[in-house]
Amino acid sequence: MENVCVMMTCPCSPSSYLKEEIDKQFKLFRYWEFANKEDFLKANAESIRAIVCNTAVGADAETIDLFPNLEIVSTFSVGLDKIDLVKCKEKGIRVTNTPDVLTDCVADTAMSLMLAIFRKICEHDRYVRSGSWATKGDMELTTKFSGKRVGILGLGRIGSAIARRAEAFGCLISYHSRSEKSSISNAKNYKYFSSVVDMASNCDVLVVACALTSETRHIVNREVIDAVGSKGYIVNIGRGQHIDEAELVAALVEGRLGGAGLDVFEKEPEVPKELFNLENVVMLPHVGSNTWETDKDMADLVIANLKAHFLKQPLLTPVV
Ligand code: NAP
Repeated sequence: MENVCVMMTCPCSPSSYLKEEIDKQFKLFRYWEFANKEDFLKANAESIRAIVCNTAVGADAETIDLFPNLEIVSTFSVGLDKIDLVKCKEKGIRVTNTPDVLTDCVADTAMSLMLAIFRKICEHDRYVRSGSWATKGDMELTTKFSGKRVGILGLGRIGSAIARRAEAFGCLISYHSRSEKSSISNAKNYKYFSSVVDMASNCDVLVVACALTSETRHIVNREVIDAVGSKGYIVNIGRGQHIDEAELVAALVEGRLGGAGLDVFEKEPEVPKELFNLENVVMLPHVGSNTWETDKDMADLVIANLKAHFLKQPLLTPVV
């Protein structure tokens, strides 16, 4: 398969593993390294048969149209919001993603954010590092997390993994998605809310874990934020666009929301500066799945899908 031309839209990962493995097994083009994109396209557009992308730089309609012989888009992510799936379907281009292998790490990240905001872990760390413990004494008490009401927006693979972890903390689980999952609700005693606002009014922390679509963009709006309220928290490990960020910032600055744990932002890597000085906000640079173990599993799945496609075998995780 060394002659099959694969173009990566961006580095995809801080690790070199995915790039090295594609380079070993296919003919790799690193699109972001070509200063003159026009020259690159003139010389190579016709030979590219696969695109590997991620959530930073996906494959929109314009990109897909640049490559007349494109057969497959294999994304190094479970989220598909940066890929024009309709265009791919129209053109008979296959699409694969990396579900399941990243679920544990993203759920772990959600738990870390919940614990960090309830127990003020980062604020306490800053307090010790600044020398304030010695000069100012003990910090104020924090809020217990165990036993709290956790509302999950999107009880899919990641949402369910968060629920299982929160159950172990004795939390009461509720969820909102397009339909009630009666088998889960009955077996696990999870409460289903058909309205996000109602769930937000009945939880201590709302965790966003759904897929980003035109329907879920800004699903967390002012009404939802106000329903969570000044004693509640919002954790987002989905996508930045799930939350109306201007409303989130306003609510945090005005004290209408208790706090937030955010792995994702609307205009990454730009983050609203108003959040920088808020002690009740914990922010991560979109690292939900970023561990060595999961990075390798995701890379192996991307490559296994490419190999299956070019060997004319069934795809492992087909989307289109
Ligand atoms: P999944 O299994 O497909 O779950 C997606 C969930 O979204 C489903 O429970 C679905 O519920 C819900 N949903 C879809 N449309 C909805 C709507 N209109 N209203 C309410 N809920 C809706 O996907 P997953 O593997 O759990 O991944 C979920 C998302 O996490 C990804 O799409 C991605 O954006 C994000 N993610 C983030 C990171 C990170 O690093 N922060 C890493 C990986 C993934 P119903 O079908 O029942 O409506």
